[in-house]
Order: sequence, then structure tokens, then C-alpha cells
Amino acid sequence: EHKPVVIVGAGVSGLALGNFLLREGIDCVVLERRDRDHVERRQRAGVIDTRATRAFRKRGLEDRVVGGAPVQAGLGFRLDGRDRWLELAVEEQLEGRFCPQQVLVRNLITVFEQDGGDLRFGAEVAVEDIDRPRVRLGDGSIIEGDFIAGCDGSHGATRAAVPEDRITHHSHEYGYAWLVVLAEVPAVRPTLLAIHQRGFAAQFGRGPTASRFYLQCPLGDTAEDWPDERIWSELETRFGEPIATRGPIVEKQPMPLRGEVLSPMSHGGLHLLGDAAHIVPPASAKGMNLALYDADALADALVHYYRKDDPSLLDAYSDTRLREVWNYQAFATWFTDTVHDAGDATYRGEFRHRVARADFERLFISGTANRLLGEFIAGLN
Ligand code: FAD
Repeated sequence: EHKPVVIVGAGVSGLALGNFLLREGIDCVVLERRDRDHVERRQRAGVIDTRATRAFRKRGLEDRVVGGAPVQAGLGFRLDGRDRWLELAVEEQLEGRFCPQQVLVRNLITVFEQDGGDLRFGAEVAVEDIDRPRVRLGDGSIIEGDFIAGCDGSHGATRAAVPEDRITHHSHEYGYAWLVVLAEVPAVRPTLLAIHQRGFAAQFGRGPTASRFYLQCPLGDTAEDWPDERIWSELETRFGEPIATRGPIVEKQPMPLRGEVLSPMSHGGLHLLGDAAHIVPPASAKGMNLALYDADALADALVHYYRKDDPSLLDAYSDTRLREVWNYQAFATWFTDTVHDAGDATYRGEFRHRVARADFERLFISGTANRLLGEFIAGLN
């Protein structure tokens, strides 16, 4: 007699895993502490890469959940206030999409419910046991499962339930922060990344009417340090061009850039996914995608376990995922530091600044360097 897979958290990893298992006829329940409205409005990432798109296609879900315009094979930089378009020499067709995270989440919820999935909002989970998987809900009820999938982010209950002597936290502070801004302004270009001596800045479309802006700022800055007028004028300085329309700023928050990996990602009957297991800075655009790769890998492993009575993929889940997670941490560190150091020489000095400029220019000169970046962006590395 099988018990369900208990999925804690209805973010991208939890909902993707839930849908994948539902398609495979594997019993699961998704438990989310917030209400539906909150989850459906949470605006964060904006790109589903080629590999993640294919994970949905593999299970016949692409048309139902992946929306938005196709990504371009290139990145629009502003270097010292001038346009530098970087064409990516990708060997395969890029199949990623500009799909705001909340659009993906909304679609995943709709499809899961249409297909008869068990999704409970307002269900705050406390983990009772990870070896004989058992969770308790706020109302005191207990749910037992064959497994717990920890999809509840970096402040969730599942990672916290692992005894400290069974887990290692590897973390890295980049030493600078981003002011993360959401504004009701359409993006003029799909991607705009400014490398400038005053610091990095970027604008990415989030659907047709909104944009995410990012501004590198010192650690310790607060939202009060950044009145709207200062945000707009600093963006214009770093972009080296006026912002076409200044719409209302609906959110601003400083966020120190950091990387984190928890090792291992499996503990008894608990498997960690997404931000519960690893954090990458948004500059890499890999946070949401790594969460989706995890869901894809764990779904495959569970299918193997239930269909073939073979736990080998499940046993290998942590090692397999960690190899890839470190590969993408390497990409995230390189890309993030390069676009910051190539602009701002004050933080890590003139030497690093010139090294970063060389790293940046190589992308335009060397087909090999260019292809490697393209592979990471597509998620095919
Ligand atoms: P989440 O999406 O955070 O979902 C976790 C869920 O668990 C939440 O719904 C939470 O309410 C729930 N939960 C927590 N605790 C409990 C509990 N005890 N019981 C039940 N439920 C619980 N990534 C990119 O790829 N590209 C980007 O450009 C990008 N930009 C970002 C910008 C910002 C401002 C932020 C904050 C993140 C950004 N990310 C980006 C990262 C990306 O959003 C995350 O990596 C992604 O959401 C991780 O998905 P997840 O499923 O692991 O966690």
C-alpha cells in the first residue's frame, strides 16, 4: 500500500513536481502555507530556459503551462552607455520563453486542479519525521507519505527539519547588493544589461506592462535610501539613455547577492528541491530553472521507483543534482562578478576590473566562449 508523496510548498518546484507526478499517476498532495491569491501574484523570475521548457514538453504540458514570447539568441548590453548586442552562437534552436514566474505558477495551479490534483492552500507544514516521512498541518492533522519533497524555499520547514550534523551549508556572499524594483513600465527591449562605472543595472520585461529593474547598490542600503526619483535618475545614468516612460514603482527592496548550496539534498525520506536546497543570484536567471530541473529529476526518479521498483535514481538524486548545481553556481559566480567588475572598479579594484573587461570582450571575439555562455543560458551545459 503506497502513501502519497507529500510536496511541501506550491512554488515553481512544488507545482511542477505535483503536475509531473499527476501525469504519471503517482499519488501526491501539495501543501502551501499561503493563500492562492498570494502565490499567484508573487512576481519574481521571468525566463524559462530551453531545458526547463523541454521538461514540460516531455510530459505533454508545454502548451498548457509555458507562455510568453520566445527568448532571443542574444543579450542586449549597454556598455558605458552605448549599445553592445551580443549575438549568441547557439548550435540548437533556443526554446526558452519570457514567461513571468507568476504566469507559470498560475498555469501550473490551473492544470493541476483541472487534472484532479490535491492542492491545499493555507496549509502551513511542520515536519514531524524525515526518516518515516510525516508532516503536521496547522490544524493538528498528520499526513504520512512515502516521501517528502521539500519545495518550500530557503526559509521553509523542510530544510530546517534536517539535523545540523547531517547537512552542510556552503554559502557565498558576493559583497554587493541589488535594489530590486518592480515598476509598471513596459520593457523597451526584452533584455537590457548595463555595465557602468557607477554599477550594474538591468531591465527585464515582466509581461507586456511591467518591468523588473535591478540596480547594484552597496550592502546595507535600505529602500528609504532609494526614493523613486533617485532610482529613475540612476537608471538613466547607467543605461546612458532616458527611460521612455516612468510608471509607478510598485515594489523596491534591496537584496544582498548570495549563493548557497545545501549538501546533501536527500535525507532519509526527504528530498530537497529548488531554493530549499540552493540559491543563485538573479543575475544568472537560473533560480527558477534549477528548481524546475530538480522537479524533472525527482519525478523521473520517483517514476523509476514506483514503476520498476528500482530506487537507484532516487538514491543518486542528491549526487546527480549537486554536480549540476555546482556547475550552475560556477556559471552564476562568473557571470555575476563579470558584469559587476567590468563596470564598477571600486569594489574589487582595477585589476579585477580589467580582468572582467577581458572576460566580457572575449564573448564577442571567441566563438568558444560565446557558445559556452549560450549553453549555460539555454540550460544545456
Ligand atoms: P518558491 O517559489 O519560493 O516556493 C516556495 C513555496 O513554499 C512558497 O509558496 C512558500 O509560501 C511555501 N512555503 C514555505 N514554507 C512553507 C511551509 N512551512 N509549509 C507550506 N508551504 C511553505 N530566478 C530566475 O530563474 N530568474 C530570475 O530573474 C529571478 N529573479 C528573482 C527575483 C527576485 C526578487 C527573487 C526573490 C527571486 C528571483 N529568482 C529568479 C529566483 C526564483 O524566484 C526562485 O529560485 C524560485 O522561486 C524557486 O522556486 P521554489 O519552488 O524553490 O521556491
